[in-house]
Amino acid sequence: AIHPYIPGRSTADDGRKVVKLSSNENPLGTSPAAVAAFAGAGTSLERYPDAGATALREAIGAAHGIDPARIIYGTGSDEILHLVASAYAGVGDEIIHVRYGFAVYEIATRRVGATPVVVDDRDYATDVDAILAAVTDRTTIVYVANPNNPTGTFTAKDEIARLHAGLPGHVLLVLDQAYAEYLAPEDDDGGLALAETAANVLVTRTFSKIHGLAAERIGWGYASAAVIEALHRVRGPFNVTIAGQAAAVAAVGDTGFVASTRAHNDRWRDWFVGEMGALGNAGLRCVPSQANFVLVLFEGQLTAETAYKGLMDAGYIVRWLPGQGLAQGLRITIGTEEETRGVVAALRTLVERAG
Ligand code: PLP
Repeated sequence: AIHPYIPGRSTADDGRKVVKLSSNENPLGTSPAAVAAFAGAGTSLERYPDAGATALREAIGAAHGIDPARIIYGTGSDEILHLVASAYAGVGDEIIHVRYGFAVYEIATRRVGATPVVVDDRDYATDVDAILAAVTDRTTIVYVANPNNPTGTFTAKDEIARLHAGLPGHVLLVLDQAYAEYLAPEDDDGGLALAETAANVLVTRTFSKIHGLAAERIGWGYASAAVIEALHRVRGPFNVTIAGQAAAVAAVGDTGFVASTRAHNDRWRDWFVGEMGALGNAGLRCVPSQANFVLVLFEGQLTAETAYKGLMDAGYIVRWLPGQGLAQGLRITIGTEEETRGVVAALRTLVERAG
């Protein structure tokens, strides 16, 4: 049977352990400093939060060497992706995203009545030339996730610079860096530096992934003063909670937690990819990932759909995305050591069963 995931539940109806590897959350949890800040924040629940998220913007600004006045904050970075569509697109406008991209781009586009323009990938990676070729005078926004979800692929700094240089000034480039903290420092795509000087670049980040604060729904973005002002005009007031702001400030300060999560991810992603390589003769293939998940393609006897259902029956929830044209793959989040070893063992059993 397929079990719906219920937050906070760790066992299925029949008592089996449920392992959730489907939303790219941090398997190591949350920084203890952030948990303590969260717990200590609820002393006056009758008061609204700081509508300007001042402490949070200052903490982010100091950590990244960027101007706090040019930081927008949202109920998850999802909200910011929606705000940008509300501020810059409407009926008759076109918004570009890649074929295997983050699902919110199309939702945000349709929500404001704009037209999604979907461009082909290059073997699952973002194809800068295809994006540039799709630009028309009706294009107002290009959404690019880097690393990309659900593929995990990374577009290097020179390619991002080439993309930006090729866009007309009236097109806003939204660089969604939800997984940026998983990159090696030398793999910075240059987004924040670009947003520092370019009028038409918005970088978005989240506390939901490496910082382990998905429950609190906090994201932020950085852009020119004019873009930030436009986003504030469509932002609801008090959109980030008191406890969430406090936890996020503490999370920014816990660089050790971020570094150890990244090291864990590097180690177990490498191990996972190696194990999948050993199943290569059964038609399993990993798309190269720089994020905390791997897209595994099923090109042999065992189909992604059968693997998805088999993993679910074994207690592993992963992501199968037929609705996004990705019926051939499963996106699997890198979990704890035990979870990662477990999902690999379950996959191996399914491969053997498929013959
Ligand atoms: N962008 C990408 C590429 C994502 O994968 C996600 C979450 O899965 C988000 C944005 C949104 O994250 P949140 O709204 O939790 O900040």
